[in-house]
Amino acid sequence: MAALTLGQLFEGMKAFKGADQQVRLFRPWLNMDRMLRSALRLCLPSFDKVELLECIRRLIEVDKAWVPERVGTSLYVRPVLMGNENSLGVSSATRALLYVILCPVGSYFPGDSVTPVSLLADPTFIRAWMGGVGDYKMGGNYGPTVLLQQEAQKKGCEQVLWLYGPDHQLTEVGTMNIFVYWTHEDGVLELVTPPLDGIILPGVVRQSLLDLARTWGEFRVVERKITMKELLQALEEGRVREVFGSGTACQVCPVHRILYKDKHLHIPTMENGPELTLRFQKELKAIQVSWTHWGNGIHFCSPEKVSPEHLD
Ligand SMILES: *Cc1c(COP(=O)(O)O)cnc(C)c1O
Repeated sequence: MAALTLGQLFEGMKAFKGADQQVRLFRPWLNMDRMLRSALRLCLPSFDKVELLECIRRLIEVDKAWVPERVGTSLYVRPVLMGNENSLGVSSATRALLYVILCPVGSYFPGDSVTPVSLLADPTFIRAWMGGVGDYKMGGNYGPTVLLQQEAQKKGCEQVLWLYGPDHQLTEVGTMNIFVYWTHEDGVLELVTPPLDGIILPGVVRQSLLDLARTWGEFRVVERKITMKELLQALEEGRVREVFGSGTACQVCPVHRILYKDKHLHIPTMENGPELTLRFQKELKAIQVSWTHWGNGIHFCSPEKVSPEHLD
């Protein structure tokens, strides 16, 4: 029967196969937490995070042969929850459908290289706003962005840099969080990303980069607003080292150009290595196929069952 689907949400995570043939999910509890938050916000039925992750673990166990082995490849895991109401009323769903799709995916960047992307920064496009739902991974946030993505491509850019507010804050890149590695105007070398203040999607890779960089303790790591004015100033003064996006699909993706107010701004990410981008890529890859780091943050398909003790 045809149904009215008002609420739809999804998740995205990856399972990796190591040289030891073990399959591991990368910090999936963060995805379970985020998915449950989205469900509650949409008044969709709640679910047991431990049960769902156990279902996913068994599903991957069944399809284990589909997890590719080559470095950089993975099995993409896409849980979806949507209302499935057989009435016309705009109200909370009494029926819902929860399913999980798996798909083997290749390496985003071949070998140990990374390819930079260009961005269109147009303040007339707004992805998320204060009081809205930009910090939830729900379908309604993504459908409307496709047209703007095409707009960016028409202008010779690969992705949209989402600006916000009168001071043109840099918030996200396409469906990635954004990071700037620069010498701040106070002269201190830092890695900065916007804070989770309601318009930023709390990315698992975002959290992982912050965790890694804080463990290293080699430069300041800060969650703070970044504005176009600050970026322009820093570019002019040669203080910008790298700008990159973070997300499950690519992990870390360098940015080399931003089209803003009809001007192409060159971002010297690639000239600077990109040292930090490549280091993050390498560290994440190593963690994803081994037990060595974040042992309690990584969950696996075999042989143990998932349990709440694995919570981060
Ligand atoms: C999914 C997503 C991200 C990245 O989240 P990860 O958990 O790191 O994959 C960032 N921004 C938006 C808008 C997203 O939808």
